[in-house]
This record gives sequence, structure tokens and C-alpha cells, in this order.
Amino acid sequence: MNAPGNAVLAPGMTIGRARREVAERLRAHGLDTPELDARLLVGHALGLDHHALTVEFARVLTRPETDRLGADVARRLGHEPVARIVGHKEFWSLPLRITAAVLVPRPETETVVEAALAVVARNRAERPAAARIADIGVGSGAILLALLSELPHAVGIGTDRDAGALEVARRNAEHLGLAGRAAFVACDFGAALAGSCDLVASNPPYVATADIATLAPEVRDFDPRGALDGGSDGLTAYRAIAADACRLLAPGGWLVVEVGIGQADAVTALLAGGGLEPAGAPCRDLSGGPRVVTARYNP
Ligand code: GLN
Repeated sequence: MNAPGNAVLAPGMTIGRARREVAERLRAHGLDTPELDARLLVGHALGLDHHALTVEFARVLTRPETDRLGADVARRLGHEPVARIVGHKEFWSLPLRITAAVLVPRPETETVVEAALAVVARNRAERPAAARIADIGVGSGAILLALLSELPHAVGIGTDRDAGALEVARRNAEHLGLAGRAAFVACDFGAALAGSCDLVASNPPYVATADIATLAPEVRDFDPRGALDGGSDGLTAYRAIAADACRLLAPGGWLVVEVGIGQADAVTALLAGGGLEPAGAPCRDLSGGPRVVTARYNP
């Protein structure tokens, strides 16, 4: 038998036919969003955006294009997420570059950005100063760069223990024209940071170690383990973050963290025990589940 990629695509197909055939292969493989994936993969292999794909639907693929597309489809059939194959993902309407070193940013993490913007607005009403932000475990830069893009007077520092992730975040900051207000530091959680922040935000690793094996292959086999593994109870990172937040936050400053399904109460209690006052009910994501816990440092 041929390799899966070669089996999909006969030479001499038009763009329109390639999209249909790729979608059919992905659907037959049980993948969730076959049409969307097919469009993104064909567009990537041919270097064409959505509009150009539509306009050029009758153009015939060249041999190198067919080969490239076949190889990319084979990766998707192996459950590699489309964002990793094409090397970028949109988050908060920002195009972010993605490598193997970082989590693919998730739509639910936009809830962290919303909650953080809400508390910055409250802070500003009380103390009109430019916000100083720390993003602990910055990954691709998603949260920090979304916040800086919305807050033209804010400055921020992102930390990550993975040098490869910091490189991605730095490159994204430059690409988005935000590098002048963003710094990136290699350390565990907030260990290398000092001083007074108005906001600490984080999407830490929160999957209990034993649960990692049960995740979708797109996550389990492709997201960096260090960005998922929250230790035996999934809450290890929050303990470190609570301690760092109390050290880094100015009095009245806010901590905003993403949590996994079913973790909101435990994280709220853990932060309260660590000296951070819970601030209202957790924010819900688009699926309606509690996704973001907010707490305030009021020493
Ligand atoms: N949201 C990821 C998941 O799919 C986990 C990311 C994290 O641990 N922060 O479970």
C-alpha cells in the first residue's frame, strides 16, 4: 500500500477537486472539521489565501504542489493539528507563529484575555497608570501579546522555562510590532522576576499527569508535555504561581489564570489559602464551563 499521503492525491487535480478529495479523506478518518482543514492545508501547500483558492479553483496543481499537499495531508491523518502543519494560528485576531516548543493557542484562552482586560480597566479607574503585566509560562506569547495589542500603554514580561518557546514569543512580538513593550525571560514560573506588577496572567500546565494519556492525540502527541503536565493533581503550577503572584503584584494587583474543567473551585481555594482574595465567580468560556479564575492581592 502507498503511504497515506500518496494514496490521497492523484496528479493533475484542480484546486477545487483537491479540496474536496482532501476533505473526504479527513472525514473518512474521523477528523472533526474536514472542510476547514482541507482549505487550510491546500492553501498552505499552494501558498494561497482563502480568496485566491476560490478564484483559482479550476487551476491544476503542479507536481511539487501535489507532493507537498500529500505530505501535509499525511501529517494531518496522523492527527497532527493543522496549526502545527501550517506553522501559525490565529488568537485574538492576531496571527501567531507556532512551533513544536509551544501549545497551540486555544479559543478558550481568549477568556483569560477578556478577564484580564476587565480587571485592568478596573485598576485604571482606581489608579491611572500604565499597566505592568507578567505572563507566566508565556508559550507562543498569546496572552501577553493580545493584552499588549489592546493596551497601548502597557508593558509586559513573559517567562517560560523553555528557550524554544521564548524564541517563538519574541518573534511573534516583533512580527506584531509589540517588541518595544515586551521582554522575555527564561525561568521557572516567575522566579527571575522582581518588582511590582498590576497584573499577573497565566495559562499554566494543568492536566493531571495520569490524565494526559486520555487526551485527544492532537494534544497528547503534539503539545509540549511541559505545557500540559500539572503534576499528580493537576494543580502544581498554581501553587508556584500563587507564591510568585504575592511577591510580584503591587497591592491591589490582579492574578488571572486559566483552569481546566472542574478545577475552578480548587484553584480558587488554593489561591485564597496563598493570600490572594477571590474576585467574583470564575469567567466562563464559549462552551459555558468555568475557565478563568481571578484573584486580587490585598495584603
Ligand atoms: N487546554 C489544554 C487541553 O487541551 C491544556 C493546556 C494547559 O494545561 N494549560 O487540555
